[in-house]
Amino acid sequence: MLETLRSIIQEVNEAKDLNASLEIIVRRVQKAMDTRVCSVYLLDHNLGRYVLMASKGLDASSVGKASLSPEEGLVGLVAQRAEPVNLEHASSHPRYFYIPETREEEFESFLGVPVIHHREVLGVLVVQQAEVRAFDAEEEAFLITLSAQLAGIIANEEARGAVTGFSPTGLKTTDASFEGVPGAPGVVIAEAITVFPPADLSVIPKRKVDDIDREIAFFNECLNAVRIDISELKMKIKSQLRPEERELFDAYLHMLSDNALGAEVIARIKEGSWAQGALAKVARDHVRNLEHMDDDYLRERATDIKDLCSRVLFYLQDKEQKNRKYPKRCILVSEELSAAMLAEVPKENLVGIVSSKGSGHSHVAILARAMSIPAAMGIQDLPFSELDGKEIIVDGYNGRVYSNPSDELRERFLEIVREEEQLSEGLESIKDLPCETLDGHRVELWVNTGLITDVLRSKERGAEGIGLFRTEVPFLLRDRFPTEREQTEIYRQQLEAFHPKTVTMRTLDIGGDKPLPYFPIKEENPFLGWRGIRVSMDHPEIFIGQVRAMIKASAGLDNLQIMLPMISNMQEVDDSVRLIKRAYQEIVEEGMTVVKPSIGVMIEIPALMYQVEALSRRVDFISVGSNDLSQYLLAIDRNNPRVSGIYSTMHPSVLRVLKQIADDVHRVNMRLSICGEMAGNPGAAVLLMAMGYDVLSMNATSLLKVKSVVRNVTFQQARELLDKVLAQDDTDSVKALVDIELYNAGVDRLLRTSSNS
Ligand code: PEP
Ligand code: MG
Repeated sequence: MLETLRSIIQEVNEAKDLNASLEIIVRRVQKAMDTRVCSVYLLDHNLGRYVLMASKGLDASSVGKASLSPEEGLVGLVAQRAEPVNLEHASSHPRYFYIPETREEEFESFLGVPVIHHREVLGVLVVQQAEVRAFDAEEEAFLITLSAQLAGIIANEEARGAVTGFSPTGLKTTDASFEGVPGAPGVVIAEAITVFPPADLSVIPKRKVDDIDREIAFFNECLNAVRIDISELKMKIKSQLRPEERELFDAYLHMLSDNALGAEVIARIKEGSWAQGALAKVARDHVRNLEHMDDDYLRERATDIKDLCSRVLFYLQDKEQKNRKYPKRCILVSEELSAAMLAEVPKENLVGIVSSKGSGHSHVAILARAMSIPAAMGIQDLPFSELDGKEIIVDGYNGRVYSNPSDELRERFLEIVREEEQLSEGLESIKDLPCETLDGHRVELWVNTGLITDVLRSKERGAEGIGLFRTEVPFLLRDRFPTEREQTEIYRQQLEAFHPKTVTMRTLDIGGDKPLPYFPIKEENPFLGWRGIRVSMDHPEIFIGQVRAMIKASAGLDNLQIMLPMISNMQEVDDSVRLIKRAYQEIVEEGMTVVKPSIGVMIEIPALMYQVEALSRRVDFISVGSNDLSQYLLAIDRNNPRVSGIYSTMHPSVLRVLKQIADDVHRVNMRLSICGEMAGNPGAAVLLMAMGYDVLSMNATSLLKVKSVVRNVTFQQARELLDKVLAQDDTDSVKALVDIELYNAGVDRLLRTSSNS
């Protein structure tokens, strides 16, 4: 059973388009279940009907024509109930609806299962038999399992069609929209440029070429380059090779010859595929065949083919990359954008960012905010390879991407762009005014930084200090650990730029979704694993080096405070403080005059909220990391787009916890700040101020937005709103209440939607 399922899925995965996929499904299922009929109906949103898209057994002329509304027939019943319907006597069911052109009157037993993707019924998979008998539990289970696996593939194929402007049934559509999470606020309309991770055969999309001869010549050029590499390699290490190993090199060269792999790839290019796609397909076919062999030797050859083809792919991509011309304004799109990919695009051309994986807390999103570039993250089912060269809209406020936009949709977003311009002109005027409410309550607005560009921008926007310098960002952009001296330089830039204002440097917070390229951490459960201070305490040499660099960088400036991430117990605090004191002592003994920095702890782990008093005996300040605190309270991976819809820092429990922390910290007379993303959400900022947070630290882009909102309300209003909010049962009511209050206070719509928490 499992083998049949796997092989059907594999064949469907290889299909060239939606229709081919559906044909495979009906043919294979009908055979595997030995039924008279297997059909697939898909929902066409334009028509609001489930259309018969493929069938083995029903009259072929009805395919593409016969359709049912959700209120009609047994197919409609399956869709309406979103659960299987299994009937031995279909024609006697009250919902039985006969469509004459299908000629289904001869079939009595009926089993229909819904095809559900992200809670939406995309279609219905049906099998029918002539005789009167119910399908047994095993048959039902088979169809349900298959349908669950097919749903993603069908959704992807549908999305591909939507991007090119067609519904599943071939009707013209516009405004294909894809949902994700906000990465960086703002809206942009421009051409998409898709990028892929280098030399990865598994992610190469299908793409057509027009100039086949040129593509073949290009492929041959790259193939030749690999041939030369292999021959050179063979010559270089010839003397160290045993005869059988030398033969292996000859075998490689043979595989690359014109009548082996190369010929197969060229045959596919002649069918119209681009070279990368043709190569990837040939490689996949060979690897799959070889991996299924019983013979060890042959299975090993699968690795060789993969290696050789990756080498050719590397050349194909490298040469293409070098010739790549970026449009004047481009939106970078990828399955998983990395900082390195971002760096490839000339800064002046980059106006938007879209990534299928990741979230608003991924470091690409952090960079996007630093650069003030709208970004949408975790966009599910995005057919990113299809978007290349097409005009798309990125809505960074709501984390959405639109392709194939209609004139009305384009106009609506152009209007938002105009509104944004006006808004930022208006905000400029308050940059030197204090952040205080109408009745004079003062709250400090600090900034979160990672790169020096953030520092410069945030100073222009009147930031009153750095509440979180994510030191891992400069670490992430390198190919080895920076030396103590290099770190000192980086830290000095931040301290100098803000002097005499305070700069809070957080010690290295790697792990989770932030593995360093040169220090990979592979874990089943990275967010619950080796992260932040846990790594630092296991590698005191890295920790001490970093702290030494920070303290040295502060010489003569004296505006440094050090903050510890991911603390879960007092032992970690004691150990860290001891090491910081030791580093300080060493530097003093080396003859430098430096001031001992304040030390603080982030509350990011729920356990710590019950230990505020214990913390107060050990450190000087506390800052709440609401991004992680929320993820651990809610047990929702902040980086997983599948569950991003239920991750919210406006969850009533999160708000109550934040309030309790504020009360406890003030009881021990400590200053309290918050440096999670919610501080930059104007609505949330008002609530945090009402709870008593003294410092709100946020990304530079949000500074003036938050200030503008705080200056529009009274402290009294904020307190009353907080009381009402804390009495709510769910996130949506909290958000609605805050929105109404800000609306009543005359706050601009864009400021109200500037939420990326
Ligand atoms: C947080 O967790 O709220 C935080 C500020 O840290 P980071 O987002 O870098 O994990
Ligand atoms: Mg954190």
